[in-house]
Amino acid sequence: MKVDYKICGFKCINKNTKYSFSFDIMYHNENGYICYENDSNYNLDYEISKIKFSEYTIRTKIESTDKFYLQVFCKEIDALGPLSDEAFEYDSNSNAYAVFEIHYSEISANGAKLKFLYVESFNGKQKPKIKKGEYYPSIPDGLIENWDNVDEVNAGKGYVENTKLTDKIYTKNSNGDNVAVAWDILSYDFMQGEAPDTVNPILWRMEKLNNLNGLFQVLPEIEIGGKDGLIYQIRTYDLATMTIVKSKSGWIVIDPLGGKETAAAGWVRFKQNVDATAKVCAILITHSHVDHYKGMEGIISSADILNVSQKDFCANPLIPENKVLVVAPNSFYDEAISENLYLGNCMSRRAVYMYGSSLPHDNCGQIGCGLGKTVGTYTGSLIQPSFELEMEEESNFMTLTIDGLIITFQNVPGTEAPAEFHIYLNDYDALCPGENITHTMHNLLTSRGAKVRDPKAFAKAIDNTINKFSNIQVIIGTHHWPTWNEDKNGSINECIEMMKKQRDMYQYFNDQVIRMVNKGMNMEEIAEEFKLP
Ligand SMILES: [Zn+2]
Repeated sequence: MKVDYKICGFKCINKNTKYSFSFDIMYHNENGYICYENDSNYNLDYEISKIKFSEYTIRTKIESTDKFYLQVFCKEIDALGPLSDEAFEYDSNSNAYAVFEIHYSEISANGAKLKFLYVESFNGKQKPKIKKGEYYPSIPDGLIENWDNVDEVNAGKGYVENTKLTDKIYTKNSNGDNVAVAWDILSYDFMQGEAPDTVNPILWRMEKLNNLNGLFQVLPEIEIGGKDGLIYQIRTYDLATMTIVKSKSGWIVIDPLGGKETAAAGWVRFKQNVDATAKVCAILITHSHVDHYKGMEGIISSADILNVSQKDFCANPLIPENKVLVVAPNSFYDEAISENLYLGNCMSRRAVYMYGSSLPHDNCGQIGCGLGKTVGTYTGSLIQPSFELEMEEESNFMTLTIDGLIITFQNVPGTEAPAEFHIYLNDYDALCPGENITHTMHNLLTSRGAKVRDPKAFAKAIDNTINKFSNIQVIIGTHHWPTWNEDKNGSINECIEMMKKQRDMYQYFNDQVIRMVNKGMNMEEIAEEFKLP
């Protein structure tokens, strides 16, 4: 009986100075069943050890704390996983063996240590070179050739000189010393020129646009008779985008990023370049995902948050000096706790795989994740807002006057996040559509374990926005760059066109999946057949 072994998983736990290894091994037993073993734990103590298994032998040599060699002897090696025969060498007794050079990295995510092992080479041979197109789906003919440069223009528009990050953003200890890297955009500087063979050219283009970081003026006051800017954005100081809007006596911040360190760095950059004594009078949180609220204390202290009910604020919309009104969508706090506290450790761990955030930043590693670069490793908290917005009866809309600005909110629960709203700045005809309109198609079933999203709810929410605010002049998203209506007297409003495309994409996705599932197709088959028109 031939026995096939396949090493299908490695785990390694660094306990003090001892190493404990466990290997998941898959093989066929004499009856042809696939068996798994994963209970082999060994303490090695920095020495070459020899461990006898019933059918195979593993020797391990510790090279350094992040690199070791695993020598695998097998009784029979007709098929040892995905490795070709040349992976093996033979000792003097004709026993076949393979030596894997394994690299070890460990990161912390929300209290949990994550370990990653990856095979760098075996028997001294480097991993085989990847052929162009091997790791991404085929790209429709003409798609790349026919790209216009609208996104390139918009992503760079309004850039405020010298606001690009020139250093990493660090977390600090109580003495102010740097203790860890919170955000490192410079590590993506290698992304120049055409896409390499290992990277999908569409993602490469997107991530070059996402690399553009700094302070951007979205709406200059000159358009309505002033001289300074009305709306600014800090982009790619984090995964999400932070928007800063001029109000009567200060500034309103929309989405204070995912980390205190990145939000603080963005706010400092804004003050240096726009308003040295800038005062935050309100913070609006578009939805219950961590990249949009956890950095709040980088900008304000939680003690500054105005304690007021919606009813009282509507009756008397005054924000006292040195207080900050914080408004979030209905059910924000419960939903944030539900996703990010009860399931926080699990979601953080899975997010590391989803974003590839522990992979090296290079052509074979992580280059970005479409929506933005990656999640940072920073600190932050969930803080209760002043109030969660209840809408007017039998309507999804509610208008508040916040520090002199008339702002209409649209409740859009169960879309990209379970608690989310769109924000319309009536004075500026500017729409912040939360995360429901971006320059990508959002995943509907996320691999990090966020609540499943309903494409119909996306489409309906966007449709309602189009019907309510037909004069939109700029869309200020919470990721990526804005979309402007360039020709104010033209027959086409680019903002509305962009919204229609997003609306129709989600609805089409919904309808086609229903059509295909009723034809008897499964998840994988639908994914392969589905094409956008
Ligand atoms: Zn986000």
